[in-house]
Amino acid sequence: MNTVDEDIKWTTEGEVVKEVEIEGLESKTERGLAFLDTLSVINEDGSIKTRVHRKETHTDQYLNFQSNHPLEHKRGVVKTLAYRAKTVVSEREDRRKELKHLRGALKCNGYPDWILQELGEDNTHDEEKEATSEVMVTSDKERKKKIPVVIPYIKGFSEQIRRVFGKYGIPAYFKPTNTLRQLLVKPKDPVSKENVVGPVYKIQCEKCEAMYVGETERSLKSRFNEHRRRSSTTSEVAKHIHVEQPEHSVELDNTDILTTESRWFERGVKEAIYIRALNPSLNRDGGRYNLPPVWDNIIKKRVKADRPKKGGGGLVTVIAHGDPSDVRGSD
Ligand SMILES: [Zn+2]
Repeated sequence: MNTVDEDIKWTTEGEVVKEVEIEGLESKTERGLAFLDTLSVINEDGSIKTRVHRKETHTDQYLNFQSNHPLEHKRGVVKTLAYRAKTVVSEREDRRKELKHLRGALKCNGYPDWILQELGEDNTHDEEKEATSEVMVTSDKERKKKIPVVIPYIKGFSEQIRRVFGKYGIPAYFKPTNTLRQLLVKPKDPVSKENVVGPVYKIQCEKCEAMYVGETERSLKSRFNEHRRRSSTTSEVAKHIHVEQPEHSVELDNTDILTTESRWFERGVKEAIYIRALNPSLNRDGGRYNLPPVWDNIIKKRVKADRPKKGGGGLVTVIAHGDPSDVRGSD
């Protein structure tokens, strides 16, 4: 196998020699070769049988039944283990032992009896036939299905959303959220506000209520400096502080990053949502994306809920899938 490609390095733990107890008889020595999760055992007559191989260090820890994961993931654990027992293990007696072992291990992981029924009895041959015909039927159906969506898993709520998707023939899959890893692991250093790239920002006049919402693919700092430049002819902010109200000014410190979005189209949508929500006096139009009026209702509701918070950083993070772990406005 190692000759197929130089990047393939197959190592073996060598021959596995094990004392196995045979029910009712005394133990005998068994010799075999382990590869991945399969153990090939050489029988006394020279023939080979296969079993599931677990390292000595294997702890039989599986996804705990009490953990906050969709039920189907837990069902998947049971099904996968059962499937392995039925495909990897070649002899009926070994298979019975493997299933018995799994039943015990899964019980220790909190799995109730009703779900363990999916381990099934040892009737491999019938099930194999069923399984293949089932696969053919579903793959036929699958082809007609629409592109699946992946939604965050929120117990009780995501199941409802999936039902709605299901009505339109769109398969939905769950992705666990709020894992410890997501909460604790932040591989990126925080970027200082002025260097944030692709922001939707809000510039507030220091002297009056005048406000401007904009977006840029560049850094906040460079776009902000353009707004403040006297020579800028296109900026409504520059017009306000240099022409209409020469006493007024704007500061980068007082400029909020409402959200960030690297994708051009999506950033335009987010900007439009904020313009609709905040109704900034210096914006001449609703932004480069023409947000349909159907959004008004949901924006109004969210703005009401957000009102106590200055700036409203939570708005778009909810309705336009912003990444709340990215830099937020300094509200
Ligand atoms: Zn002003």
